[in-house]
Amino acid sequence: MASALDKLTNILRLEQEEGYRDKAVIGGLACFADAWHEQAQQETQDTEWLDQVTEQMRSYSRLASSKARQAHLKELCETLKAGPSMSGQGRAPAKAESKRVDVAIPRKPSNQRQRVKSPVKADTAGLDSPITVISGIGPTQSKRLARLGLETVRDILYFFPRRYDDFSTLETISQLEYGQEVTIMGRIWDVHTRRTRSGKVLTKAIIEDGSGTIEVVWFNQPRLADRLKPLRQIVLSGRVDEYLGRLTFQAPVWEPLDQELLHTARLVPVYPLTSGISARWLRKLIKRTVDYWSYRVPDHLPQDVRQRVGLLQLETALRQIHFPEDVEKLEKARHRLTFDELFLIQVGVLRQRQQWQAEPGQALPIEDETLQRFILSLPFSLTGAQQRALGEIVQDLRQDRPMNRLLQGDVGSGKTVVAAAAMALAVVAGAQAALMVPTEILAEQHYRTVSQLLGSLKTREKVDGFTLQPTVRLLTGSTPAAEKEAIYQGLAEGEVDVVIGTHALIQEGVKFRQLALAIVDEQHRFGVEQRAALRQQGYNPHMLVMTATPIPRSLALTVYGDLDLSVIDEVPPGRQPVRTQVLLPTERERAYSFVRAQVGKGRQAFVICPLVEESENIETKAAVEEHKRLQDRVFPDLRLGLLHGRLKSDEKEAVMGQFVRGELDILVSTSVVEVGIDVPNASLMLVEGANRFGLAQLHQFRGRVGRGAHPSYCLLIADSTDLVQGERLQAIQSTQDGFALAEKDLALRGPGEFLGTRQSGLPDLRLASFADLRLLEVARAEAQRLLETDPELDSPELRLLVQQVDRLWAGEGDVS
Ligand code: ADP
Ligand code: MG
Repeated sequence: MASALDKLTNILRLEQEEGYRDKAVIGGLACFADAWHEQAQQETQDTEWLDQVTEQMRSYSRLASSKARQAHLKELCETLKAGPSMSGQGRAPAKAESKRVDVAIPRKPSNQRQRVKSPVKADTAGLDSPITVISGIGPTQSKRLARLGLETVRDILYFFPRRYDDFSTLETISQLEYGQEVTIMGRIWDVHTRRTRSGKVLTKAIIEDGSGTIEVVWFNQPRLADRLKPLRQIVLSGRVDEYLGRLTFQAPVWEPLDQELLHTARLVPVYPLTSGISARWLRKLIKRTVDYWSYRVPDHLPQDVRQRVGLLQLETALRQIHFPEDVEKLEKARHRLTFDELFLIQVGVLRQRQQWQAEPGQALPIEDETLQRFILSLPFSLTGAQQRALGEIVQDLRQDRPMNRLLQGDVGSGKTVVAAAAMALAVVAGAQAALMVPTEILAEQHYRTVSQLLGSLKTREKVDGFTLQPTVRLLTGSTPAAEKEAIYQGLAEGEVDVVIGTHALIQEGVKFRQLALAIVDEQHRFGVEQRAALRQQGYNPHMLVMTATPIPRSLALTVYGDLDLSVIDEVPPGRQPVRTQVLLPTERERAYSFVRAQVGKGRQAFVICPLVEESENIETKAAVEEHKRLQDRVFPDLRLGLLHGRLKSDEKEAVMGQFVRGELDILVSTSVVEVGIDVPNASLMLVEGANRFGLAQLHQFRGRVGRGAHPSYCLLIADSTDLVQGERLQAIQSTQDGFALAEKDLALRGPGEFLGTRQSGLPDLRLASFADLRLLEVARAEAQRLLETDPELDSPELRLLVQQVDRLWAGEGDVS
């Protein structure tokens, strides 16, 4: 068989001899272009060159005069002569044959190394070389690949398929059913394009596979018909749809049938694409890269770990995840690579924790009696879960190893009092404590609560016999400058015992005399750096981070793998579930009468305005208008307050104060009340535009009510009917369990979205689904074992592992 290049050279010679009549091949060069392209692609990887040749073939046929054709043909011959990039795989047909054999018969690595011709321009290139070392990738393609995040050889090896098409289980057209997600393979019978009345371009094709035919339509892809040539074989995936009683596909993904892949791999990888990168081209690039490079990837996992967990070799896993021989091998490959991600994270977080603990912290002398006295001074008795959590914290505070603890508890479970207790004990022990929260409103509320609780502590005894009232201060962005200075001084000299505040706590100028306990509330609202900054304010202080966003255990172990976990899994007694109902906008009047009825019973209500993405200004404006509308037209006889992020600190405090004291019936607010606000008499939460909020956020809103003994309600108004029935809002209506909702949210939105990748400090994970809790725990146990046997991780065989860990965590910083 002649190579495609030779064939075309012959045709062009013939064309010249016959006087440029475009008759050398049946139908002309333009018609031949596609078929030629397909064959030539088997022989060279230089797509740019291929595209250039075929484009010249097509334009040749478009030329009218033989004179113009003559000139054009000359150019075409020159392109041909220049040839594809030579470092590509050979053009000789024999090579193409042997390539096929390579894949069909698995080879031992040592063999392969000699057999596969290096696609690399420079032999010294390592895994971190830019992708341009791979032949066939010029500047244009590398720019396009960069859009997929592919910049180095390693990136390509770790660019995993989105899914796999299993050609062994193709559906036949006659068996298709409405609504199925399927892949079919067939021949194109007929294609035509027309313009609809609305001006859309409609491309229709009939596909036939021996069992039957089906109509397929695409919209607004004017050039599609050029590529969907009759008689071409294609593979097509999508959902079976229905139109006028017949089954169809609408805008399915498709690609030309790739004979080679079909014969060599049952499971064909499908990769994410970007414009200018075709599925076939990318797959071939990845195939070549994996064939050559996977054998050069050293395995960073210690052998004993691999054996204990039963994992594939890294190089095998990399080959199998891209081009799996069968489903079982694919699963094994995934298992190995998922383990890698989890293990590297665990080693990273545990090493971090070890480093913190290596430096001694301050052991606080806490007497059991002091603890008892504080608990007795509280206006209520602690729940079992609160006592347990407090007990764990006290244990930590007594150690000279700094505490690193996450206190997790659903909204309303009573975390604040546990934090207050810890601060009280630190103060009695003669040290300073700081509590950082994300909003001024919350800072003010905590300031009131903590002052009150510590006030009931009456006095503290200093070692030298003095008795003093603990000094608690509030420090936020809107604290007046003079007062700020006084607080700074008090902190530096040790006059201020407890400071509660916002980011203002980590501004320059804040110095503590002896910060022994640093607490972060609603910690998911803070970035990694901010938490680290608070830690830096003291010398290795005890850290307690609290979150009201319940984090599924799997995620908690990952993101907070460096922290010990205390969970408050019990709500204070007497609470009733918050009855939740999703409503249509048309039912708003009903909701208002309900608000009125609650106020009539002496209760209070929140009305949350819809989330406006663009800016806080617009959101504020919307809230101002909503407040006015409700006050003027809906509830003219009731007392309404307005709360939004743009109010000055004292204005916020005034409004919140009024609401807390019951001087307002309804608080109209933006989403700023989301976190932490505690008003036990409030029994009704009305959320407008509920579908625009995340599940976890809605659960937080709902947590603002049902904090007292009164029956409480949460009314969620969605923008439209289908949203009312949607999975998300139905989920919140049917469960009160924040953890269950968080799991759901995680499943619906993925871990990145769930916490916000930046905030979570989580490295970019490709495979770890978080659903596989067992594997996560295995990874954690292995990481612990590793650090116990070699705390410094400095044995030579761990060198590669440490490199990988550092790579994963590069730029992630402190992860607490
Ligand atoms: P969260 O965990 O959401 O931060 P808070 O600390 O704001 O919850 O507490 C919610 C409400 O429950 C507060 O009004 C608080 O005073 C009250 N509370 C906390 N613990 C108890 C308890 N053991 N018994 C009764 N009420 C409690
Ligand atoms: Mg709270």
